[in-house]
Amino acid sequence: MNDVIVIGGGPAGSTVAALLAATGRQVRLFEREQFPRFAIGESLMPDTYWTFKRLGVLDRLKDSAFPRKHSVQFFGKSGRGSTPFYFSDTNPHESAITWQVLRGAFDEMLLDNAREKGAQVHQGARVLKVLFEGDRARGVRAKLADGQTRDFTARVVVDASGQSALIGRKLKLTVPEPELKKASIYTHYRGGRRDEGFDAGATLILHTENRDSWFWYIPLSDDVVSVGVVGAISYLVQGRREDAQTIFDQELAKCRPMQERLQNAAQLFPVKTTKDFSYRASRIAGEGWVLVGDAFCFLDPMYSSGVYLALKSGEMAADAIAGAFATGDFSADQLGGFGPQLVRGMEAVRKMVYAFYSKDFSFAEFLKRHPECKQGVIDVLSGNLFSEHIEPIFGPMSEVCQMPAAVALSPQPSGATP
Ligand SMILES: Cc1cc2nc3c(=O)[nH]c(=O)nc-3n(C[C@H](O)[C@H](O)[C@H](O)COP(=O)(O)OP(=O)(O)OC[C@H]3O[C@@H](n4cnc5c(N)ncnc54)[C@H](O)[C@@H]3O)c2cc1C
Repeated sequence: MNDVIVIGGGPAGSTVAALLAATGRQVRLFEREQFPRFAIGESLMPDTYWTFKRLGVLDRLKDSAFPRKHSVQFFGKSGRGSTPFYFSDTNPHESAITWQVLRGAFDEMLLDNAREKGAQVHQGARVLKVLFEGDRARGVRAKLADGQTRDFTARVVVDASGQSALIGRKLKLTVPEPELKKASIYTHYRGGRRDEGFDAGATLILHTENRDSWFWYIPLSDDVVSVGVVGAISYLVQGRREDAQTIFDQELAKCRPMQERLQNAAQLFPVKTTKDFSYRASRIAGEGWVLVGDAFCFLDPMYSSGVYLALKSGEMAADAIAGAFATGDFSADQLGGFGPQLVRGMEAVRKMVYAFYSKDFSFAEFLKRHPECKQGVIDVLSGNLFSEHIEPIFGPMSEVCQMPAAVALSPQPSGATP
């Protein structure tokens, strides 16, 4: 029997696998793809620094060609840019600098690290189902790269399968975020215009002229830039007859500063589309199983929080699993003990996402009226989600836009039989 089985080799799965293997646990990870593979989600939050440090990959990132990201800048529907939010304004440490990563190379680096720490990694190996004995997860059935299907048992099964959310969907735990029914269309360009010097690696968030959608502009290495548009499914996809490329071009035509940046740039591949990506599982753990990263929750692409939360939840879950082996307690309470704290951090991002989508909200206006909230806003943008400066911003924010009611984790098993 294995100590731990991890489903998925994205940032969340690689983090759990590396940290547990480094403590001598016998870890087996299944990843359905052969790496490197394309993935979206290229802009990091600065507080990823601390997980990278623990994983021992900081030097690899510092030596990489990934552009440095020092700030985020927002552009309103008029095309005017806010003052950039520089992470170093509130944090003088080197952790205020982060990276814009090509996910193929970045995810492969993290997976290699898990293998180097001792995890047994199977690529091209798809987990077909999680095996349960009553309520207790006892392993997985996987189809391996050689075509064989085999069962593997473990004390703990970690679901890090991203939006596949294998356990969450099987146990009917995933709850969609009703106000965030969004779609996204994205691609890469070569030769987009970048800002100079310190600002060259900034993430830009640009509203279209009617605020029905927004674009991200994420400068990557090798003169490549990631560009994507996000809007309500009802606006961007449903009821439009055009193909995705035409819709993308139509939205681009409504975003002058983005058009200007892409004037001399060449699109590198046909646009890709994804939708309905915002949800949360009502539970984070059960007897012998735990959810991390997108397999637990994905909020919204807006603040680039996905990879940070994948790494952070991976780290928290690894500590909870280590505690389970130390005490022999593999219960939901032990394995998911970190859930309430993680959710508290996620709620901060969630409230800021709702603010951003409020038609009349603008960060520039908000901070002009409430300069005392600047640190709290930058803390959220940095991923410093447990900072004392964050909660006080939501009182003033709720005066200008509606804040969502908090969603707590369900303390009880869902009742669904596996
Ligand atoms: C439009 C869009 C834009 C985004 N932009 C950003 C951004 O700029 N910055 C940011 O931080 N985040 C962004 N995100 C979110 C980010 O991509 C994810 O939050 C992040 O990748 C989650 O990491 P993960 O390890 O949980 O899942 P993933 O990275 O999805 O990894 C899951 C892995 O599991 C594997 N897998 C799935 N099913 C199985 C199976 N049955 N068997 C074996 N393996 C399996 C998959 O192949 C995959 O490699 C964006 C998301 C969207 C939708």
